[in-house]
Amino acid sequence: MERRAPGQERRPDQLPVNPAAPSPEPTRVVVRGSGVSAGVGVGPVVRMAEPVAEPAHETLPPQDVDVQSALLQLAAAIEGVEEELQERARTASGEARDILHATAAMARDSTLRQRAEQLIETGASPQSAVWRACGWITDVFADLEGVVAQRVRDIQDVRDRLVSALDGRPAPGVPHRREPFVLVAYDLSPADTATLAPAQIAALVTSSGGPTSHTAILARSLGIPAVVAAPEVAALADEAVVLVDGDRGSVVANPAPEEIARSSERANLDAVFEGTPATADGHRVHLLANVGDAEAAKGFVHGGAEGIGLFRTEVCFLNRTSRPGVAEQVDLYQSVLSTAGTGRVVVRTLDAGADKPMAFLPHKAEPNPALGVRGYRMARAVEGVLEDQLAAIAQAGQGSPADVWVMAPMISTPAEAHDFATTARQRPGISQVGVMIEVPSAALCADEILNACDFVSIGTNDLAQYTMAADRELGDVAALNDPWQPAVLRLVQLVADAGTRAAKPVGVCGEAASDPILACVLVGMGVTSLSMTPRAVSPVARRLQEVSIDQCRQMAALALAANSPTNARDYAERAFNAYMNTEQKTESED
Ligand code: PEP
Ligand code: MG
Repeated sequence: MERRAPGQERRPDQLPVNPAAPSPEPTRVVVRGSGVSAGVGVGPVVRMAEPVAEPAHETLPPQDVDVQSALLQLAAAIEGVEEELQERARTASGEARDILHATAAMARDSTLRQRAEQLIETGASPQSAVWRACGWITDVFADLEGVVAQRVRDIQDVRDRLVSALDGRPAPGVPHRREPFVLVAYDLSPADTATLAPAQIAALVTSSGGPTSHTAILARSLGIPAVVAAPEVAALADEAVVLVDGDRGSVVANPAPEEIARSSERANLDAVFEGTPATADGHRVHLLANVGDAEAAKGFVHGGAEGIGLFRTEVCFLNRTSRPGVAEQVDLYQSVLSTAGTGRVVVRTLDAGADKPMAFLPHKAEPNPALGVRGYRMARAVEGVLEDQLAAIAQAGQGSPADVWVMAPMISTPAEAHDFATTARQRPGISQVGVMIEVPSAALCADEILNACDFVSIGTNDLAQYTMAADRELGDVAALNDPWQPAVLRLVQLVADAGTRAAKPVGVCGEAASDPILACVLVGMGVTSLSMTPRAVSPVARRLQEVSIDQCRQMAALALAANSPTNARDYAERAFNAYMNTEQKTESED
């Protein structure tokens, strides 16, 4: 995706950062980044609080310690944290409310308090005392199983809140406000992003992060407008009102009311495509949705998709500390399958590891996690993980009218594809078994891989990352990490050709599928289905409807012959526009 340079407007570093005395007419400032989740959001800038670092644990001699004052500080921190959590519980509902009540109760837990008080009396600072007292409790809990073990994370949350309160800093994590705001952060973990409430977060802006990072993908699936790789956002004043345009990749501070109205109107214009997606001359293309959980799945049909082409199952478990059992997984998968009617649902087995670590799976520090034990490698390394998941998918599939397909992520060799297909085919309730092509070695061996399974789906996000050796989480290498890179396009063509030879479906489920021009190119290469964030389905369907399959093939040939991603896009787009002009001329001559 293109990175745009800052425009002509005044840059934020040319402005007073903290408008203690705001001028009557605040200046309009524009910051540029990469738009990664469409839509427009307006609200005050609120920053993500820093993670809490472990305090120093030195014990001072008794004469240097004011024990009474430290005990009072502890009491005030406990009271403040408990009150804040109760207040949040009052405005929350369902499971969130229960969790907040339980966490508030934990903050005033008498064992925790007594232990911290004892440590303060022996000379520890209140911060150190809280940290160690919580550590003692989590050690006890960690030795236990199941639900209790999950409480460890809640206690760590209470610990971080107490230490922040004692330091006089805001609580860590996503800030809580009554009114919607624009969340600004250096970067967000996928786990933090998954917990964002779309009703509270008007938009998300990060200084770092790449367009295909999982944070960007989750923001899209939640429908939160988002801009990433916008370093200058760090200089915007807290609470300054900003207009975030996730289509254009812009963040405008102090926008005029007319500008807000115009942007919102444009964002609402994209009416939903209805009909059967195909090219102008009737070449059928399946347009499907990428979803992460049942909540996201509920909205997919409204975008115009005919099924789910990528169900990222790991998203359901990002915040889990204990391994989900088969019965629990069956429930979760059923709730997603039930949104699809008789449509296709491609369930991807756990893609854990790298930037999506799962607390319930082993976590070894690796020098290059994206090249380490992730995806299928992780599922294979931990006994029972894959088997349990396949059993749950099959069970959910048997009780559902949906057409259930299953695929494994991060397959590197034909042997892995064969191994997965053999295991998955033993299960009833699964109609098609396939794998993802997201590692160059798999693309190069596409014939053998297709020989082992029923279909493949190309994950262009990882395929670009691994082909270009450019970390998809890093804003600095975003330009390399681009599906328009000729090397990436040529690998996709290899896979599409293998699919044509084998007469088996080849889908694309990476972010490339949501770019309407690239979608035409992919179809021209021979890709049979495109799966994308639900909001992208209508714009893609409309573009496809405007060109014939031959024109898509010409666009593909032009892009494949280009020597740079910019030229590839440019040639394909110009060809598309030329077809449109010719058609308009012919229509007016008629
Ligand atoms: C991909 O890599 O393109 C893909 C669809 O998988 P994910 O983005 O979840 O890694
Ligand atoms: Mg991937």
